[in-house]
Amino acid sequence: MFKQAERISQLPPYLFKEIDENKKRIMTRGVDIIDLGIGDPDLPTPPHIIEAMASAVKDPANHRYPSYAGMEEFRYAIAEWYQRRFSVKLDPEDEVIVLIGAKEGIAHISLAFIDHGDLALVPTPAYPVYNSGTLFAGGESYFLPLLAEHGFKPDLAAIPPEVTKRAKMLWINYPNNPTAAVAERDFFEAIVAFGHRHGIMVCHDLTYSEIAFNGYKPMSLLEVDGAKEIGVEFHSLSKTFNMTGWRIAFAVGNREAIQGLCAIKSNLDSGAFQAIQIAGIAALKSHRESIPEMVTVYEKRRDIMVRGLHGAGFTVNPPKATFYLWVPVPRPYTSMDLTSKLLIEAGVVVTPGNGFGSAGDGYIRIALTQDEKRLREAAERIQRVGL
Ligand SMILES: *Cc1c(COP(=O)(O)O)cnc(C)c1O
Repeated sequence: MFKQAERISQLPPYLFKEIDENKKRIMTRGVDIIDLGIGDPDLPTPPHIIEAMASAVKDPANHRYPSYAGMEEFRYAIAEWYQRRFSVKLDPEDEVIVLIGAKEGIAHISLAFIDHGDLALVPTPAYPVYNSGTLFAGGESYFLPLLAEHGFKPDLAAIPPEVTKRAKMLWINYPNNPTAAVAERDFFEAIVAFGHRHGIMVCHDLTYSEIAFNGYKPMSLLEVDGAKEIGVEFHSLSKTFNMTGWRIAFAVGNREAIQGLCAIKSNLDSGAFQAIQIAGIAALKSHRESIPEMVTVYEKRRDIMVRGLHGAGFTVNPPKATFYLWVPVPRPYTSMDLTSKLLIEAGVVVTPGNGFGSAGDGYIRIALTQDEKRLREAAERIQRVGL
């Protein structure tokens, strides 16, 4: 009876229907499924963060509407963390905004800066929200393929001038989901120069900055001179502190970008629950203790799975960051074929690369969100099935 709005029918088709159905069918058969599909940490939130929340939730002062931009103490803690971690100076008054998850901010910022007919430069494969946020704002995505031969970076020189003219925003994400690629200073410098040259706002999704291995430290876009004039960066406590269910994150950087985002948010939501923001303060203040332990866990898992995949005949390099493996699909399989085969024959769930956009075809993504024992078991099953 009710016809959905255009903005919903414009969304790309949902590719996981067949996989979901297979998964359900196999599960009802009693098969023990190992799910390496979702990017949701299995590790618990560190106990001191839970304690901070538990006492904050008892304080009636925290039961009221929070402020739109986020608690002052949390914004100061975010600025301090940026200073310590990236040597980036932020003004907590107008260069920081608290979000109800990075997804929320990523989706909403387009509403502040994209008008009907505007373009956003969106990588493919990518986290789907850059595109859906653009579409919901009435804009259009111009897709930038991330290819192995370019280190999974967009080729800025290949963007036609008429596209850069119409583009209002550029999305980037390093360390990258789903490709696990990382970016260095020269790339970020080129991005900042591009943003300046064309008056394009650069939105950097820095969700995975803390999940990096063998001493590697991912950098912030805002470390580049002049970045703050065009750049805004999103970071989330979801992956950094195993807090996906808590919904707490922040955006920092360019004042006008933060102001625009705040204008949208103050009309759509009323901020994050203060008790959760207080837990967020505890999290950021303790980053030196909790993060290294978590990184060690993922590093061991990465090595187990990479070794296991090599044993099964796959070619995959151990990534420097993120908890994903982006695995090339050997001929003659497509991403979908291989995903179905692994599910049906091995009871292992992976994500087909084309689920993140057509340029992800030819890959599968494996999330290291199960313990070592389960990963070993998954690797053994994959080896048994063979290619
Ligand atoms: C997990 C993830 C997010 C979302 O984080 P939330 O803060 O939980 O909304 C954003 N971007 C990327 C690339 C992610 O993988």
